[in-house]
Amino acid sequence: MRRKHRRVLAAGVTALALGWVTALAAAPQAAGGAPETTARVIAAAPASTSGRPWLNPNQSPQRRAHELLAAMSLADKVHMLHGVSTDQSPVPTDGYIPAIPRLGVPPITMSDGPAGIRNGQRATELPAPIALSASWNTHLAKAYGTVIGRDARALGQDQVFAPAMNIDRDPRDGRNFEYFSEDPLLSGYLGGAETRGIQSQNVIATLKHYVANNSETQRGFMSADVSDRALHEIYEKNFGIAVSFGHPGSAMCSYNQINSVYACSNPYTLGDLRHVFGFNGYVVSDYPATHRTTDLAAGLNVELPKAIHFTLAKIRQALAAHQITRGQIDRRVYHTLKVLFRFGIFDRALTTSQVPEQKDNLEARRVEEQGAVLLKNANAQLPLEPADNKIAVIGYTAKHSAQGGGSSAVQPLSIDNGYEGIVDVAGSNANVSYNDGSNVSTAATTAAAADVAIVFVRDYSTEGADRSTLALPGNQNKLIRTVAAANPHTVVVLETGAPVLMPWLHRVSAVLEAWYPGARGGHAIARLLFGLVNPSGKLQQTWPVSNTQLPASTPREFPGVNGNEHYSEGVDVGYRWYYDHRQRPAFVFGYGGSYTSFAYSGLSISRGSGTSQQRFAISFRVRNTGTRAGRDIVQAYVSKPDRAVHTPNRELAAFANVSLAQGASTLVRMRIGPRQLAYWDSNQHAFAVQRGNYKISVGGSSRFLPLSTNYTVTRRLGTVAFAG
Ligand code: BGC
Repeated sequence: MRRKHRRVLAAGVTALALGWVTALAAAPQAAGGAPETTARVIAAAPASTSGRPWLNPNQSPQRRAHELLAAMSLADKVHMLHGVSTDQSPVPTDGYIPAIPRLGVPPITMSDGPAGIRNGQRATELPAPIALSASWNTHLAKAYGTVIGRDARALGQDQVFAPAMNIDRDPRDGRNFEYFSEDPLLSGYLGGAETRGIQSQNVIATLKHYVANNSETQRGFMSADVSDRALHEIYEKNFGIAVSFGHPGSAMCSYNQINSVYACSNPYTLGDLRHVFGFNGYVVSDYPATHRTTDLAAGLNVELPKAIHFTLAKIRQALAAHQITRGQIDRRVYHTLKVLFRFGIFDRALTTSQVPEQKDNLEARRVEEQGAVLLKNANAQLPLEPADNKIAVIGYTAKHSAQGGGSSAVQPLSIDNGYEGIVDVAGSNANVSYNDGSNVSTAATTAAAADVAIVFVRDYSTEGADRSTLALPGNQNKLIRTVAAANPHTVVVLETGAPVLMPWLHRVSAVLEAWYPGARGGHAIARLLFGLVNPSGKLQQTWPVSNTQLPASTPREFPGVNGNEHYSEGVDVGYRWYYDHRQRPAFVFGYGGSYTSFAYSGLSISRGSGTSQQRFAISFRVRNTGTRAGRDIVQAYVSKPDRAVHTPNRELAAFANVSLAQGASTLVRMRIGPRQLAYWDSNQHAFAVQRGNYKISVGGSSRFLPLSTNYTVTRRLGTVAFAG
C-alpha cells in the first residue's frame, strides 16, 4: 500500500465510526503466539523511508531518535510532549499522542491498567494485583503481564499504565488492591517481572505512580512528608528494583507532593529515578498531575491527558523567560523517541484483533489459584470432602464477583462467580443451595440445612477515596456470625482488596482470602475449596487486629490533615513496625496456610564474611511433611547492624517458590548481595552497607524463621550501585 499514512489513518477513523472494515491483513499476532485471528489495520506503518533515515529499522533506537530529533521543528517536539483528547484516537484509548505523518511518527495509544486493559473496551479481567503479589511468584507475574500486553496489542494499544507499584503503607488506602505489597523487595520483583511480561508483547509498560502516593484523600495536593531514608529505602526502592529487573519504557509521576514538592515537578525524586535507579525511559504525568511548564526541566517528558502547561505558546514563553532550555526539550523528546523506536512502534501498523479470551481467562484462573491465601483451617475443615454434599452458598458476592473501582476496573469479556464455580466443581451428586444473605435469618435457615456453609463477603475499594475503617461493610459481619451459629462448619470466602477485621474469626472453621478474583475467580475458588488445587498464597501485607493497631494510627499520619501526611513510622513500614513495636497482628506478613506442611533444615552460607560489595549464597532444605503435594513460599530476612543508623529488626532479603510432591524435599539456594544489605546514606546520596554482623533468618513467614546464620561485613567499600 503506497497510500500516505495520514490517509490510511483517516480511513481507519471513518471505518470505526461507521462500523466498516476497510482493510484486512494477515498480520501476525503479537510475539509469543501463533496467529489466531486476522488483524485489522487501523493505521499502516509508513511505506517509504526516503529522506527519512530514522525510519530504517536496521539502526539502533538511539541513532534513530537522534536522526528524527534533528529533523523536528520546535512545534514537532512540543507535539511529542503532550497528549490530546482521546476523541481523536482511531481506537478507544485512555491516552493519545497523534501521528506526525510528514515525519512518519505513528499515533501513540495508551490505556489502563493494572488488572487488565481498561479503556471502554472489553478485555480480560485479571485478579487484582494484590492477588498476584500473594503468589510471590515472579514467573506468574511475567505471565500476568503477558496477558495485559497481549490484550493491549489486540485492542490497538502501544502503552499500558501498569504495573501500579506504590507501597501498601496503610490498608485503608483506596488503591491498596492495585498495588503489590508493604515490602519494597516483593513489590519491586513482581513489578519488574510483570513489566517483562507486558513488554514481551512489544507494549510499553508504565511504572506508576511515582512516588509516595499512598493514600487517596485530597490526592491532588496531599504532601507525603517522609524522611529521606524512608523515601529511598521503602517508597522509591521498589520502583528501582523494577527498573533494573524489568527495564520499563515508561513511568508515571503521581498526583501528590513529596515533602511539599509535586511529584511531576520534583527534580529530586525524578532525578533519583534516572540517576540512582538507572531509568532510561520517559515519564508521563498522572491525569492531570503536571503543574507548570518548568516540570519539563524537573524531568517530566509527557503531559497527560492533554496540554495545559506543555502547549507550544507556554513552552515558547518559558524559553523566552529562560525557565527552560532547548537542550532540555531535546532531551525529553529524545527519551520518548528512543523508547518508541525500541518497541518497534514506528515499524508496525496499528492493528486490532480479537482478544484470546479463553487462553487469557485460564491465565487469570491460574493467578487466582496461586494468589488466594488460606487464613484459617480449623480441624482440616477444608478441603471439602464428598461427604459434604449438602452445600449452602451464602452472600450476594457469591453470585457477583468483587472488583475494585476506578481506572483498574476492567469490563470483562466474560466473568464467572463463586456459586457457579462450586456448582461445577461439586458435581451432580452435590446439592448446592443459595441464599443472597440480605435476610440474615433466612440465610441461617439455609445454612442449618446443609453439611457446610460457605459465606462470600466483600469490601469496596476504589481510586479517589480512602476507607475510614477496615470493618466489612453492611450486615456482613452479622451474616457471618449468624450463619456460623447455625452451622458449625462455616467457611468464609473474602473477596477484598485489603485486610479486613474479622471479629467472628474464632467462630468459623475456615477462611480463604480470594481478593478480587478476576474473570475465572469463581472456578479458582471452588478448585481451592475442594482441594483440586492446594492453597499456597502468602500475605504480602500485615493484617491488624483492629483499626487502632495500624502503624499510622492518627489522622496526621493517615490520611493526612490540612494537606500534610506525616510518615512518622519512617522506615518501619508494615511488618517492620509491628515487630519493632511488639505488636501481634491478626496475621503476619508472609503467612499463608496449606493442606500440607513443610519443614526447613540444614541452612548453610557460602561465606561467613566479606566486604560490603560482595555477594553470598545461602542454601537450605525444604521438605513436604504433609499428605499431599503443595507449593511453599520460603522467605529469608536480614537483620542489619544498628551501627550507623537504626534499622528495622528484620527485612525481606530473598524469597523462592518450591513445589513439592508429598514426602519430597529439595535444596533451595538464594543469593543475597549489597542491595539487600544496604541502607540509604543521605550524606552520600547513595545506598551503602555498614560494617558489622548481618543475621540471615529463613522460614515460612516473617515470624516463623526456624533457621539462621550470620554474615559479617568486615570492610566498607564505596556505595551500592542500583542502576543496571
Ligand atoms: C489514575 C491513573 C490512571 C489515569 C488514567 C488517574 O486518575 O490515577 O492510575 O492511569 O487516571 O486513567
